[in-house]
Amino acid sequence: RASAQRPEEVIQRYMEIVAGVPDEDCIICMDQLSNPSGYETPSTEEGGQSILPVTVGKFIKCGHTLHMLCMLAMYNNGTKDGSLQCPSCKTIYGEKTGTQPKGKMEIYSIAQSLPGHPDCGTIQIIYSIPPGIQGPEHPNPGQPYTCRGFPRFCFLPDNDKGRKVLELLKVAWMRRLIFTVGTSSTTGEPDTVVWNGIHHKTEMMSNLSGHGYPDPNYLDNVLSELASQGVTEDCFKP
Ligand code: NAD
Ligand code: ZN
Ligand code: ZN
Repeated sequence: RASAQRPEEVIQRYMEIVAGVPDEDCIICMDQLSNPSGYETPSTEEGGQSILPVTVGKFIKCGHTLHMLCMLAMYNNGTKDGSLQCPSCKTIYGEKTGTQPKGKMEIYSIAQSLPGHPDCGTIQIIYSIPPGIQGPEHPNPGQPYTCRGFPRFCFLPDNDKGRKVLELLKVAWMRRLIFTVGTSSTTGEPDTVVWNGIHHKTEMMSNLSGHGYPDPNYLDNVLSELASQGVTEDCFKP
């Protein structure tokens, strides 16, 4: 799903050129903004230079400034999905996508209540991801990845806030943000499918792992984890 847009165009969509260079350091290269970026200018098809090493850019929403070439180099090192994230304040521009491998997300409803949510039933999410071969977006392209503990069963209270979290989790799933391929911090196993910073409750009636109920802060915590990946209710606005 990588975007076909040229990297320079993505940078110029979300950053404007600053005329009077501020007396600050670039957060990427740590050199003064008044010095040129150390990164090479990629030559364009026409042979010209689209972004010069001395160009200082400012993000259109958060206003943070850095060398435009440093931001271009950071973009080219990532998944190149057409989105940018300010390295200072983490504001996301465009739709951030991740590297979650192919799989299935299924949703069921259970009549039984979760501990701490006695007034409603339960939403069950089942994630299934089969083993496969890593793509260019993964740590070791061409090598296999393993899948431990799949299918993974997750639970939400079936109330207004739980259903809102479910809708946002569906968006995060489509944007490939729920899982990634990496090293499991629990088992140390490399090249395996792991959670990617959006916490899920994987125990329904027990809490042996600490990833169970009751947890009065869970829905708010997962909403802020989703927001930090750019997944908010704004996704549903036309
Ligand atoms: P990880 O160990 O790299 O940890 C990444 C994040 O997942 C961390 O934030 C951690 O707090 C969270 N996490 C760890 N264990 C979790 C759990 N049981 N439920 C929910 N969140 C959890 O991530 P990982 O390697 O993907 O998962 C950790 C371990 O949990 C793995 O060994 C996996 O097999 C196992 N697991 C099993 C099931 C199951 O249903 N059998 C479900 C989920 C996870
Ligand atoms: Zn720089
Ligand atoms: Zn910023």
